[in-house]
Amino acid sequence: MEEINCFSYKVGRRFMGSLPHKCDILHIVSDFCETKKIQIASFNIIGAVSSVVFGFYDQKQQVYATEKKEGFLEIISCIGNVTLKDNKPFVHAHILLGNDKNEIFGGHLFSESIVFAGEIDITELLGDPIKRSKDVTTGLMLFN
Ligand code: ZN
Repeated sequence: MEEINCFSYKVGRRFMGSLPHKCDILHIVSDFCETKKIQIASFNIIGAVSSVVFGFYDQKQQVYATEKKEGFLEIISCIGNVTLKDNKPFVHAHILLGNDKNEIFGGHLFSESIVFAGEIDITELLGDPIKRSKDVTTGLMLFN
């Protein structure tokens, strides 16, 4: 039987706050975790961005195709986790956005994605830090 490769954690601190205007989402979350000495976390963000870069993973070629969009875009959902990579917080996030035409799009979040307004809810997890390494099947940096 196949199993989920998982780890068990206790819940640590939980923070709710607003993101600074014009910050980059991935950088601000990473900086926050570094400042607060958070090694593992899960988070969600709602709000709006003025520009965004998101990607689609081509499973065959094992590369991301990215797209940049600018304009008034709602963050309908942005969820992610924080783990350690090279002993620094590494943020993996996916984002779902909506525009004024009721169109929805999104994918794997990249920098630069600039916040217009954002609210984050981030939960620290306590336990052995998860590390990522390159998975030969997918080409992705997965949990090991
Ligand atoms: Zn991803």
